[in-house]
Amino acid sequence: MDEDCDYLFKAVLIGDSAVGKSNLLYRFAKDEFFLDSKPTIGVEFAYRSIKVGDKIIKAQIWDTAGQERFRAITSSYYRGALGALLVYDITRKSTFESLKKWLKELREFGGPEMVVVLVGNKSDLLHSREVNLEDGRSLATLEQVSFMETSAKENLNVEEAFLHMIHRIYETT
Ligand code: GDP
Repeated sequence: MDEDCDYLFKAVLIGDSAVGKSNLLYRFAKDEFFLDSKPTIGVEFAYRSIKVGDKIIKAQIWDTAGQERFRAITSSYYRGALGALLVYDITRKSTFESLKKWLKELREFGGPEMVVVLVGNKSDLLHSREVNLEDGRSLATLEQVSFMETSAKENLNVEEAFLHMIHRIYETT
C-alpha cells in the first residue's frame, strides 16, 4: 500500500480499437499525468488520486495500448481489477455490437463484484451517430451496469464517468 493514500484500486479500460480509450484516460489522468508503459506486456496505466470524504483513493487505470487489435487481451489484464469502463464509439455501430463479446470476457475474467460503467464515447459527433442514446441505456439496464455518453475530445462527462466508477468501487468494497 502506498503511504500517500488510504486505498489503491485497479480499474481497466476495455472496448474495441479506436473507440477513444486512450483519450479518455488521458483526459482523466492529465492533472497528475503519470503514464507508465510496459511495452513487453502491452499495457499502459495512469494513476489519479481523489478524495472521498476524508479518505484518499488512488485509482490505477489500465489501458490496453492497442492489444485488443490482436484479440490478445489476457486474463492478467483483468486480474485484481475492481472496475471497468467498457467503451464503444457512438459513430460506429460495430463497436456497440462488440459489447456482447466484451461483457462475456468481463464476466469470465473479472470478478463477479466488478463495477462496470458502459460508456458511449464521441458524443460530440452527433451528425455521425449510429447508436442511439436509448440503445446504450437499454443495454446498460439489461446488463445492470451504469451508463454515460462522453466526449474525450470536448471533455464532456469524462470526469463524471471515471468518478462514478471510483465512487461505486469505494462503496462496494
Ligand atoms: P483507443 O484505441 O480506444 O485507445 O482510441 P484512441 O484514444 O486512440 O482514439 C481513437 C481515435 O478517436 C483518435 O483519432 C482520437 O482522436 C479519436 N477520438 C477519441 N475520443 C474522441 C471523442 O470523444 N470525439 C472525437 N471526435 N474523436 C475522438
